[in-house]
Amino acid sequence: MTARYDAVIVGGGHNGLVTAAYLARAGRKVLVLEKREMVGGCAVTEEIWPGCRVSTASYLTSLLQEKVIQDLELEKFGYAVDAKDPAFFSPFPDGRHLFMWQDAQRTHDEIAKFSRKDAERFGEYEAHLEKLALVAESMLLLTPPEFPPHSLSDFADWMKITAKMRGLSKREVVSLVKVFTQSAADFLDDWFESEQVKVTLATDGVIGANGGPRSAGTAYILLHHCMGGLAGKRGLWGFVRGGMGAVSEAIAASARSRGAEIRTQAPVQQILVKDGRVQGVVLESGEEVAANVVASGVDPKITFLKLMDERSLPGDFVAGIRRFRTEGTSCKINLLLNGLPEFTCYPGAPGPHHKATMHICPDMDYVERAWDDAKYGRPSHSPLLEMTVPTMYDPSLAPEGKHIMGIFLQYAPYTLRNGSWDALREPFADRVLEVISGYAPNMKSIVEARQVLTPLDLERRFAITGGNIFHGEMSLDQMFVMRPMAGSARYRMPVKGLYLCGSGAHPGGGVMGAPGHNAAREILKDR
Ligand SMILES: Cc1cc2nc3c(=O)[nH]c(=O)nc-3n(C[C@H](O)[C@H](O)[C@H](O)COP(=O)(O)OP(=O)(O)OC[C@H]3O[C@@H](n4cnc5c(N)ncnc54)[C@H](O)[C@@H]3O)c2cc1C
Repeated sequence: MTARYDAVIVGGGHNGLVTAAYLARAGRKVLVLEKREMVGGCAVTEEIWPGCRVSTASYLTSLLQEKVIQDLELEKFGYAVDAKDPAFFSPFPDGRHLFMWQDAQRTHDEIAKFSRKDAERFGEYEAHLEKLALVAESMLLLTPPEFPPHSLSDFADWMKITAKMRGLSKREVVSLVKVFTQSAADFLDDWFESEQVKVTLATDGVIGANGGPRSAGTAYILLHHCMGGLAGKRGLWGFVRGGMGAVSEAIAASARSRGAEIRTQAPVQQILVKDGRVQGVVLESGEEVAANVVASGVDPKITFLKLMDERSLPGDFVAGIRRFRTEGTSCKINLLLNGLPEFTCYPGAPGPHHKATMHICPDMDYVERAWDDAKYGRPSHSPLLEMTVPTMYDPSLAPEGKHIMGIFLQYAPYTLRNGSWDALREPFADRVLEVISGYAPNMKSIVEARQVLTPLDLERRFAITGGNIFHGEMSLDQMFVMRPMAGSARYRMPVKGLYLCGSGAHPGGGVMGAPGHNAAREILKDR
């Protein structure tokens, strides 16, 4: 006999789990079906080398919504974070370096090494960004209004959004519009003069982006990365104890505690539709599960183009999903180290810099050139690198005396003009180590093992189309009322009972839990 549930969640990524947890709390009989042997999707901890627990994909938290943490009692289920301090360390080719600390005075003094004027402005910049972030952040847990609006209540919803700008000065409103449209470089040029300060801050604008710091729209990505916080302190990022998988495990435990069932190694083959209504799903094993509600946490392209019979969806919707841009440009390299990199500009190990995100980003032209390569289908000859060492906070993640390093880098275009990632993967990783060695000459000698995840590998391992870390580009035309497309941004998809609850829905990617939270609210409204 076919099992029957109130709701089936396709994909046990953190967002799918959040939806399941909220529905279970509301008394629904919920089943989560996850393809891999573990839950979490891009928020996982994997033992890829004996005794090493590695956050193979995402590696830092900040965006996870406080409401979700509280509602789902995640701390009770093991969620704990060590805030990163210092936040950033950038070594520069001229032998200087820049730290950014949690302590405002220490950051001021660091910036003053490069520009007194910038040091004086930094506090004001942070306060300004915080004000903008507060407005943008207040939209994260909203269901986007109908677009284009047609009824009176739609217009009222838009008025409510506009009202969120109340309290902003004229200058701040203009800046808010600019931040949604400008490049990170232009945005930062308005504030600072020092190249080193600007490029260090600009890194947040190009993470996961299809663009360089001078591409329009990257200022918003910068803001996106400032929208979270830890323990009430905005903009702080941290390492999750036990690795990023501990976030997903905590959400899963919360969902299970209220009766949700979660099955792993249970890939869904098809979402079943009859007479314009979902009926349930079929697993690859052939097993059928019936449900009136199916919510997909899988990316939009896979959900609608692979797991559904296109004939059950409107033609213009299918065409829109085909056009949804999902080209990834990021690569993740995980390393097992038997020591720590010794930077020429800041000798000694371990040191405070090993607790920070260590950037290789000498100047804005360097990052822009890295993007130029990617634009024409080549892996960046000199990529922008972000290195983190979670074992500096949680030594239990690796055997004694060893460290794990995650390198997140831009740019590695999914579509290569020449060659394939299967051929270029290891030479590219060699080049990355070469670049780091220019700043920390012992780098190559301390690497014991490495895992290189190009966009093709991210696609294969985590089932994210194009290896796009956000399930689809976070550009203005694919955000808010346009995510995944205009007319379908309110979590309900054009088949009755079908919802999108992953990063392909508003407000997009990152370990945020917001799409999962919002989708659950809409599902419960539609009962
Ligand atoms: C390399 C990398 C680094 C990142 N770094 C950070 C970071 O440091 N901080 C941050 O906040 N964000 C980061 N991100 C982004 C963030 O991790 C993702 O946006 C987020 O985790 C996506 O969550 P999700 O639940 O929406 O989707 P996913 O995590 O993609 O979950 C979808 C789930 O569906 C499953 N699935 C797919 N097909 C099927 C099927 N047919 N049947 C059943 N299950 C299926 C998948 O296995 C997966 O578990 C990073 C992402 C990557 C890839």
